Amino acid sequence: MNAKLNIVPFVSVENMMKLVLTIGIERFIVELAAYIEEDFRRWELFDKTSRIASHSTDGVIELMPTSDGQLYGFKYVNGHPKNTRDGRQTVTAFGVLADVGNGYPKLLSEMTILTALRTAATSAVAAKYLAPVNAKSMAIIGNGAQSEFQAIAFKALLGVNSLRLYDIDPDASIRCAKNLAKFGFAIEICGSAQEAVEGAEIITTVTADKRSATILTDNMVGSGVHINAVGGDCPGKTELHKDILLRSSIFVEYPPQTRIEGESQQLSADHPLVELWQVMTGKAEGRTSAKQITLFDSVGFATEDFSALRYVRDQLQRTGLYDELDLLADPDEPRDLFGMLLRAEKNVGIIPN
Ligand code: NAD
Repeated sequence: MNAKLNIVPFVSVENMMKLVLTIGIERFIVELAAYIEEDFRRWELFDKTSRIASHSTDGVIELMPTSDGQLYGFKYVNGHPKNTRDGRQTVTAFGVLADVGNGYPKLLSEMTILTALRTAATSAVAAKYLAPVNAKSMAIIGNGAQSEFQAIAFKALLGVNSLRLYDIDPDASIRCAKNLAKFGFAIEICGSAQEAVEGAEIITTVTADKRSATILTDNMVGSGVHINAVGGDCPGKTELHKDILLRSSIFVEYPPQTRIEGESQQLSADHPLVELWQVMTGKAEGRTSAKQITLFDSVGFATEDFSALRYVRDQLQRTGLYDELDLLADPDEPRDLFGMLLRAEKNVGIIPN
């Protein structure tokens, strides 16, 4: 893509939006889901580590690195539930993909929109293996930034066409319903979480609160449902009552990270968790009965971001939707870094004292 060694392709928020809209949001999610699934299937190949989290009173800042031996990727991401009160996002992110062979970055991209897309695509990929066959209705509790992406991913990958929305802020549900109006769902806005889950075959919880909340209690969850628990993704931040976990078959991304960050932090360290990659590769069973409660305890894992960056990189040549960033020093003689600095002097204007 770029012959000049100093240039790194950069996908801005504006270009990411153009990319998603050019490809089409449903097609983007379906194609991204295929990359995510492909990387889960070659799970054993990846360098895996729990994300490196820096916790503070109001939130968390995390680095999420991984490598498949050819490419290295990381995401910088925050989670600050109070942010929306002063006009900021709860979650923002950017990420890098680099060449393992020479260490040079190959892509720098916004990942706030991309995280919402990859989280939704991962949830839908998991549900393909775990949700009741032919499930068409989903409750979404928490109707913030992630919610519409979740709805569209479940429509695109599973054919979900009926939504039951609930948020403690009714305006959030109204906005979500409005944003989804042209996507062909039957949508009902509900007055409580209890009402939202009635009759839903899939329950998505995607609320933001930096505490152990109880969005779902045990009596609200009937047999046979699939729970897609997305919002509990930090130590001390959960959404489900522990009794639900004790009745469910629990599926996770990377157990060492989920046991600290997910709903599973409420369980003993030896409670059985099934790894999603094993279900996808036939090494473990997914849903085995119509009465089983399946729970995807989603926290978000580095390989999903790696897959997302890989997918975006593969779309750039064709679409040209990137800028060229002068990110890397490239002296004529690699060891003459200082000489390059001196030669630049003639281009620098005099800055008055
Ligand atoms: P957001 O702040 O935009 O939206 C959260 C919504 O939840 C808000 O509308 C809020 O009113 C609602 N809410 C809070 N408490 C509630 C309750 N008790 N009942 C019903 N609704 C409630 O946040 P977002 O960007 O949509 O993210 C939601 C959560 O998902 C965050 O906790 C975030 O950290 C998490 N997340 C997880 C992953 C993952 O991979 N698992 C990825 C991205 C985000």
